Amino acid sequence: MTDSMLPPLTSKNWPALEPGWVWLCGAGPGDPGLLTLHALNALRQADVVIYDALVQEAILEWAPQAEHIYAGKRGGKPSAKQRDISLRLVDLARAGKRVLRLKGGDPFVFGRGGEEAQTLVQHGIPIRIIPGISAGIGGLAYAGIPVTHRDVNQSVTFVTGHDQSGNTPSSLNWRAIAQGSQVIVIYMGMKHIARIAAELMEGGRSAHEPVGIVTTATTDAQQVLETTLSTMEADIAAAGLEPPAIICIGEAVRMRQVLDWQGQIAGEPVRDMDPLGRGRPAESA
Ligand code: SAH
Repeated sequence: MTDSMLPPLTSKNWPALEPGWVWLCGAGPGDPGLLTLHALNALRQADVVIYDALVQEAILEWAPQAEHIYAGKRGGKPSAKQRDISLRLVDLARAGKRVLRLKGGDPFVFGRGGEEAQTLVQHGIPIRIIPGISAGIGGLAYAGIPVTHRDVNQSVTFVTGHDQSGNTPSSLNWRAIAQGSQVIVIYMGMKHIARIAAELMEGGRSAHEPVGIVTTATTDAQQVLETTLSTMEADIAAAGLEPPAIICIGEAVRMRQVLDWQGQIAGEPVRDMDPLGRGRPAESA
């Protein structure tokens, strides 16, 4: 994409990233086109961009003037390192830099953005928060899975598959989630997938319930697996799927049979025009 195809960010309404400030910004799930205009505005002004593992290289190219610092951290490593990152942001701001902290997805969704922002405020550093498209919504949309669908769910639960120690979150009542949530979207769930599936089935979910798994969603390497609660562990292994992955459990996954828009662009036929068997056009009010 050339610069001239992007809207100009020259209006006085665009906020200035001032020296000594930190903007905590979501980069979306991968595809650079899923950045917000505020994120682009920030990229163009930053002196320093501190970015996470899941931020695509192409996005950093929109900040050629800035120093790029990798602060990647995978798989729920100890919080000491998190503290280092937060304090580094403080130091850079105090040194008078225009600091852009770029995080995958949305900074406040399972991204420890709240902790970093809190540390900055506690140290008297002025901040701005720029939300991003979270993988659990946008990543599923790229796979043709609507996270809510009127015929299926009036609620959705976003869950993290492991806690700070790397274990399945012990504070989570998986059985209550099984019983109370029509659609469950799991971040960081691959490591404990067998345990999570077992708990949900013990909580009453059908072994045949559809599951959609999207890895490296919205990037060129995106892979999608459609499976079921009882077969997903074996199917993930057979397909050789690796994190990062979003796991969606619920009837909404069936909608991919009609909404796999990327497959349709690639010339694949629509598998089922009415995968939920409602037998009527959806335009009826
Ligand atoms: N703040 C991020 C989530 C960070 S936690 C957001 O809002 O999306 C990291 C987890 O997010 C990964 O383990 C994975 O479960 C999910 N994730 C992030 N980007 C992803 C992508 N492109 N494809 C699939 N899952 C992704």
